Amino acid sequence: MATNSRRPIVAGNWKMNLDHVEAIHLVQQLALGLRSIDHSRTDIQIYPPFTDLRSVEGIIGADNLPIELGAQHCSALESGAYTGEVSVSMLARLSVTSVLVGHSERRQLYGMTDEIVAATSTSVLAGGLHPTICVGETEEEREAGITSEVLTRQVRGALAGVPKGSEGSVVFAYEPVWAIGTGVAATTQDAQGACAHIRSVLTEERGGAASGIRILYGGSAKPDNAGELVAEKDVDGLLVGGASLDAASFAAIIEAVSACYGSPSA
Ligand code: PEP
Repeated sequence: MATNSRRPIVAGNWKMNLDHVEAIHLVQQLALGLRSIDHSRTDIQIYPPFTDLRSVEGIIGADNLPIELGAQHCSALESGAYTGEVSVSMLARLSVTSVLVGHSERRQLYGMTDEIVAATSTSVLAGGLHPTICVGETEEEREAGITSEVLTRQVRGALAGVPKGSEGSVVFAYEPVWAIGTGVAATTQDAQGACAHIRSVLTEERGGAASGIRILYGGSAKPDNAGELVAEKDVDGLLVGGASLDAASFAAIIEAVSACYGSPSA
């Protein structure tokens, strides 16, 4: 059972998968799956590719689905000659409420630095959306025993872009790079240790506000390990990649997380 009062999030990062027709199909299947489970204690988010957002927005709105729409990335800038980029206000117009900021694939493949993560977080917050800020160490950093240092640097770097007082609008996701897409999730102890470390850095920087910030775990989360991961004190939900592309798996993860947050008498 989860022992904290923060409302859990189960978020699906679709990455560069599914065109808008496939996206409609997946959301319809997920909607069906949600009908037969108790998800009332969990916030559900999906992060489709940009080209799917309009279609997915339509289905969520038409059927009033209990799913929040997110985007996988955005520019820190408002508008102008930035070919290929998408602004926060464009996303807001599509009912997007959250944006992944600093996913390790953006950091590793597209040169997203801590400074860009901070600037993007500032823009997302200024636009009235919620950044889900991803942090996590690589395998080399883990083997070198510097996981805590890496997390401290990434969390402090991101907080430079989070104005004091807006901590409640921010979510962090601990995503060890070596666990993403590998089928090898962090152990519950490692996930808890890293999330507790992130919260301790948040407390040093922002005092009591840190206790309200939700910290997700991401990296090969599946129906089998979802419950045990979120039972940990500082793990407030899951960011799910591969398993979010299958409606049954994603619904099973949501069910496992919700069950973990249920009162024993419920
Ligand atoms: C991710 O990319 O955010 C992720 C957690 O992927 P996966 O669940 O496939 O490891």
